[in-house]
Amino acid sequence: MHNDANYSFFQSVGKSFDKAAAFTNWQSGILEQIKACNAVFRMRFPVKMDDGSIKVIEAYRAQHSHHKSPCKGGIRYSDMVNQDEVMALSALMTYKCAIVNVPFGGGKGGIKINPREHSAYELEKITRRYTSEMVKKNFIGPGIDVPAPDYGTGEREMAWIVDTYTSLKPGEIDGMGCVTGKPVSQGGVRGRKEATGLGVYFGIKEVCEMSDVMEERGMTVGLKDKTIVIQGLGNVGYHSAKFFREKGGAKVIAIAEYEGAIYNADGLNEEEVFQHRKSTGSILNFPGAQNIVNSNDALELECDVLVPAALENVINGENADRIKAKIIAEAANGPCTPEADEVFIKKNILVVPDMYLNAGGVTVSYFEWLKNLSHVRYGRLEKRFTENQNNNILSQMEALTGKTVSDAERNSILHGPDEIDLVHSGLEETMISATREIMDCWRNNRAIPDMRTAAYVVAINKIATSYSELGIFP
Ligand code: GLU
Repeated sequence: MHNDANYSFFQSVGKSFDKAAAFTNWQSGILEQIKACNAVFRMRFPVKMDDGSIKVIEAYRAQHSHHKSPCKGGIRYSDMVNQDEVMALSALMTYKCAIVNVPFGGGKGGIKINPREHSAYELEKITRRYTSEMVKKNFIGPGIDVPAPDYGTGEREMAWIVDTYTSLKPGEIDGMGCVTGKPVSQGGVRGRKEATGLGVYFGIKEVCEMSDVMEERGMTVGLKDKTIVIQGLGNVGYHSAKFFREKGGAKVIAIAEYEGAIYNADGLNEEEVFQHRKSTGSILNFPGAQNIVNSNDALELECDVLVPAALENVINGENADRIKAKIIAEAANGPCTPEADEVFIKKNILVVPDMYLNAGGVTVSYFEWLKNLSHVRYGRLEKRFTENQNNNILSQMEALTGKTVSDAERNSILHGPDEIDLVHSGLEETMISATREIMDCWRNNRAIPDMRTAAYVVAINKIATSYSELGIFP
């Protein structure tokens, strides 16, 4: 992949930070303190493979900032993982959490493996050993650092992490809060799985409702019938596509994966494409769609919204000039390089930045963490039960406790919101407020060149306030 070469991903995040810092009044020491990555744990550990051989695994956990505790951020499994990448991604987590007002510092982990080349049993052993290394060095815990899913990981890995952690720390009352993105049956929260994609949808919907933003780009207000191109059909890309289509009435005209891309001007159904890819092993040759053999060509299609939902640096100094989308929705972390940003400023293409747009995941992780720490479940009885079943459960409760359920309580139990409703509405409110806060910052200072810089200004102001109030130890 093309790299705008002279600097690394972490330096590229630093460049965007510096660009924004110029629009704030904080002293340079505070800015340096925010920018620095506080701690990196680099590990190497052996794991026995299924064939009896021993593989030495390279892995990391970076904690970018401790102005709030715990640190928070996903763990990715990819053979491109390196120290610089986890540092950059942990920095983005710091800014992301500040923007959506979740009280965490930024963290990120990575294991340098290709998960497709390992059996489930090997992956389980790698995950458990990685977790135990972090326990040994105090790099994980509900009040220390709380991992979550990221590229190449999901609920299954999070379940292995919580099981390993709680086995090594028996009796720790808040142990379930050591990781988020767990299966619902293992202390997870309903709505976490689709949270990032749903947040991308809420954010872009709000942007598309802003008449000034749309008019400046010659677009009509609203998401309905807008054309969308998605890169990456993983958890984030899949759910973004689903909500753009289902809730927004937009048309997903192309989907790209690493083996190629497909195009259909009438729109694609992400679930059908997903099933096709699962059964044939490739996204190509989807009935009714045109093949695009070189996957990256899909990024250059004419469309309203381009959604890179895979990896960093895919839109860079080499291809930025050929991008024809009017809005770029950064569902992935770091998909556009600073060079690409400069091109888009000139071409008046709106880049809706990662550190706010994909914050839906960590927002719902926050709900999950709170749920684990407070040892409750959100909502009461589930709506999946019929009224009769709920009444039966209430009678059994009364029989068991020997107490009558009051009318108010009965009403709240029978008609109160489900957990999923609470999570979705909390997420929607978070994404809408964040969009407005960033846009207002940009509207109030037209010298700010782009939305990414405005988002950084918002984040820097919040983190700098926190650091300066805390003072410096000793
Ligand atoms: N990996 C996700 C991200 O990059 C989620 C992090 C979390 O939930 O802690 O934002």
